[in-house]
Amino acid sequence: MRILIVEDDKDLSRQLAEAFKQAGYAVDVAADGEEGHYLGDTEPYDAVVLDLGLPLIDGVSVLQKWRADGHKFPVIILTARSQWSEKVAGFDAGADDYLTKPFHTEELMARLRALLRRSAGHTTDSLEIGGLMVDNRAARAYVDGTSIKLTSHEFRLLSYMATHNGRVISRTELVEHIYDQDFDRDSNTIEVFVGRLRKKIGVERIETVRGLGYRLVDPTISKA
Ligand code: CA
Repeated sequence: MRILIVEDDKDLSRQLAEAFKQAGYAVDVAADGEEGHYLGDTEPYDAVVLDLGLPLIDGVSVLQKWRADGHKFPVIILTARSQWSEKVAGFDAGADDYLTKPFHTEELMARLRALLRRSAGHTTDSLEIGGLMVDNRAARAYVDGTSIKLTSHEFRLLSYMATHNGRVISRTELVEHIYDQDFDRDSNTIEVFVGRLRKKIGVERIETVRGLGYRLVDPTISKA
């Protein structure tokens, strides 16, 4: 999962980005409304954390532009204390949730997980596919109850595939959702990550659909 943080408070932004990376997300940050709007307009984020008080373009206007252009990613807005009218404007502009500053990072992460669950149509953070368990809350994976050691990129790949289980996912889509903007994508191809992941969770659990991409497979269900 890849998220965007638009926040002009440098310390807060750095702290949130670090926490989200630790929790298994690819993270991009923007420090003003213009850059934030541009990134949200051009990159396919799974969710966005948007401060409302921003330089250049305010958060409500950024959100209005995204929604007017048809971007549906879930957005959680950060508002200043006691500015209830900001919250109303934010929701009217298309926000899915809000948090009032100051807040605990844990609460933001829990709210973001809830938004990601909802937008993917899941009810829990733990996803199970035939003995493979992907826990998006703890950023851990298990096969038949045994914990699997994964690098952050391997976990992101698996988490994205498990969240979108049931369909074939293209390499392009995987690239867009597991790497952040600054990552050197050429030297770390998806094929390499898939190969490593197969070794760890079982070759039979990831099917290559030629010309289309990859799909998670439940090995306990025999093919018709
Ligand atoms: Ca601000």
